[in-house]
Amino acid sequence: MGAPMPPHTILVVEDEKPIRDMLAFGLKRAGFGVIETATCNEALERLEENRPDLVLVDWMLPDCSGLELTESLRRNPAYSDIPIIMVTARATEDDKVRGLGTGADDYITKPFSQRELQARIRAVLRRTPAAIPDEVIEIAGLALDAASHRVTAGDEELSLGPTEFRLLKFFMMHTERVYSRSQLIDAVWGNNVYIEERTVDVHIRRLRKALAGGGHDRFLATVRGSGYRFSASESS
Ligand code: CA
Repeated sequence: MGAPMPPHTILVVEDEKPIRDMLAFGLKRAGFGVIETATCNEALERLEENRPDLVLVDWMLPDCSGLELTESLRRNPAYSDIPIIMVTARATEDDKVRGLGTGADDYITKPFSQRELQARIRAVLRRTPAAIPDEVIEIAGLALDAASHRVTAGDEELSLGPTEFRLLKFFMMHTERVYSRSQLIDAVWGNNVYIEERTVDVHIRRLRKALAGGGHDRFLATVRGSGYRFSASESS
């Protein structure tokens, strides 16, 4: 509170170093934070560490296409609301339609000027509600501080393991919706991790136990046959 707004962070996924350097240089000079990656795998790893405000993804990448990366982000509930701009040398209408059809928010064709790119980034960011909880998320007295990794219920600090913390953060950012165990695995453990579904139940149980002190365990409902829902209006 009261601190200056952190700059918007752009995750750049571009394998050609001269282009990546040029993008990073221009974006940093325009006041953006930049995370530079050269492959889809690297982008997915960095996404787990740091949630960007926007992803700028090249069409042609060595380990998957920009289209595939866009599709996989859109399928993952943890990342599906991060805006994506696709960068490509292809200029045909078909390709644009395919790019937008996978869920990219905008599309920019090489060569482009830094000014044009930044104008598009700002336009996309303007129409995207900020879902970035670098600050504290609070629901009915339960507060999660993503920056310091602390969770409090009223004045009391709760002790959560790292997985329970990530689970709770996901639920607090995505309330009032039912998530299946496999959706939770994708969102909390990552796309390419093999986790048995009953492992989710184990961590849910631990999370409920940690929340029970402040009575917030009742917010985490089991939806029979479907999964789990976090809702501040749960009463049972
Ligand atoms: Ca490329």
